[in-house]
Amino acid sequence: MTDAAHLNDLDQQFVWHPFTQQQGWSEETPLMIERGEGVYLYDVDGNRYLDGTSSLWCNVHGHHHPVLDAAAKFQFDKVAHSTMLGLSHPGATELAARLIEIAPEGLRRVFYSDSGSTAAEIALKMAFQYHQQRGDTARTRFVRMREAYHGDTIGSVSVGGIDLFHATYKPLLFETLAAEPGDAAQMEQLLSAHEGEVAAVIMEPLVQGAGGMIVHPEGYLRAVRELCDQHGVLLICDEVATGFGRTGTMFAVEREGVSPDFMCLAKGITGGYLPLAATLTTEAVYEGFLGAPAEGKTFFHGHTYTGNPIACAVALANLDIFRDERTIEALQPKIELLDRRLAEIAEMPSVTEVRSRGVMVGIDLGEHDPELRLGHRVTREARERGAMIRPLSEVIVLMPPLAISEAELTDLLDICVESITAALASLPTAA
Ligand SMILES: *Cc1c(COP(=O)(O)O)cnc(C)c1O
Repeated sequence: MTDAAHLNDLDQQFVWHPFTQQQGWSEETPLMIERGEGVYLYDVDGNRYLDGTSSLWCNVHGHHHPVLDAAAKFQFDKVAHSTMLGLSHPGATELAARLIEIAPEGLRRVFYSDSGSTAAEIALKMAFQYHQQRGDTARTRFVRMREAYHGDTIGSVSVGGIDLFHATYKPLLFETLAAEPGDAAQMEQLLSAHEGEVAAVIMEPLVQGAGGMIVHPEGYLRAVRELCDQHGVLLICDEVATGFGRTGTMFAVEREGVSPDFMCLAKGITGGYLPLAATLTTEAVYEGFLGAPAEGKTFFHGHTYTGNPIACAVALANLDIFRDERTIEALQPKIELLDRRLAEIAEMPSVTEVRSRGVMVGIDLGEHDPELRLGHRVTREARERGAMIRPLSEVIVLMPPLAISEAELTDLLDICVESITAALASLPTAA
């Protein structure tokens, strides 16, 4: 047996993959990724693939980046892990200061965890507890967007709105109020109808990623911020996907000059290297938790690997690269190129809509029989042509690392167009 065949055999026997129907997994040979270099991933057989989804939306500066590698190794030689419960360490401390420096005005405190889901859970729990401790005890409800995605743990699923992922768990979830993305008048009605009952609005600012790259109309985020202020409601902006340059600015909220009460960060925070997350909040929220231990105002939440030192060291190096390589500035011509090409792709007869903001792209192929698995076919075709992409049902997602060159971006788009055409040609023709 070759190495790859042996590994595939072990995978089939012992592994259960996330967001994957395992029945059928064995019918295709899974790719075993062994190493990465820049925007490319290499499998155990040495085949090269352009990482078109940034290893699930998190890689920023490319794989095997010398600065990030060095930061991890440097920290590794000191200590791999030490707890944040009752102790601190230089990396977490410096990173908190650096995050606050670049975050929107008003955000002053950093609470660490290790995934986007936990970053969202923490914001929800903090918002709830904050109102309780102020005596505003009727504020127990949350407003979330239709088609929202904030992670896979029960609390973050409660504020989710994607039926395919979330409907099964309904009996386990807390009730939420659903807002129509982009409709400020409906948000106003919702907050008025539930005056004094809402703890917070949680939303993915500008673009709802997992919901299929739903792009909000300009001004919506700003309007939601104003409505929250008018109704005494806290605003949680989940920047797990949009943060760290994805939409063309460091954070999406910058586009509309909005300062949320909570900002959730994960995915790109370590440049896509290691699991780390942060929930940023204001001094006002922070002060709402101060008191003598006996008052019970402590925020009783913390994960074992919270603020892991190696992850923090890499996150600091990630911010150094943003500064030294002027990542955001260098991104602008690539966004222009991308927008030009996407305008062409939108004209393809098989494409119903192209939605994008910065380097966050959804190419919607419209309604097709789910059994035909059109999105999956496009993925397979792209793989044969040397690119890795992953669809959201029939929406083809492109989220390459920000470090992608214009030539590599052109390759990715060419492969994407060819793959859509080939996948459609592979469909059984209607009788
Ligand atoms: C991916 C994502 C999450 C969940 O992050 P995990 O690290 O996978 O738990 C939460 N919110 C948004 C907007 C995301 O895109």
